[in-house]
Amino acid sequence: MTEAAPDGQYDAWLDAIEAGEGYYLECANGHGWLPPRRICPECRSRDLGEERLPDSGKVTTHTTITVPTPQFEDDAPYVTAVADFGSVSITGMVRGIDPEDVEIGTVVGVEVGERVTTGDRAVVFRPR
Ligand SMILES: [Zn+2]
Repeated sequence: MTEAAPDGQYDAWLDAIEAGEGYYLECANGHGWLPPRRICPECRSRDLGEERLPDSGKVTTHTTITVPTPQFEDDAPYVTAVADFGSVSITGMVRGIDPEDVEIGTVVGVEVGERVTTGDRAVVFRPR
């Protein structure tokens, strides 16, 4: 058995975010994880339950991408950020704010958007 989530679990998680029912996984020892996985990498617990994701998180790191890889060239410039949602951190693209205005501590909500270039679903943060 691997730590990776079964096929489709990430899509199911995006579905939940889209429905406003975002969650993360937490083991009995309080280790929170995203994206979904089967085994807690910290303590090897297989007893992972779904916990409700907080409505907002805070940006902890951010990077403005001005020269992206070809498959995302129509998205540039864009900001990728890691936001702290309590027990878990989530990586996503920041939208609805000037890239220059994204700061550490910016409060964001999480939703699902589309890559401009590919139309693939992606995690998107918007300022709250
Ligand atoms: Zn654990």
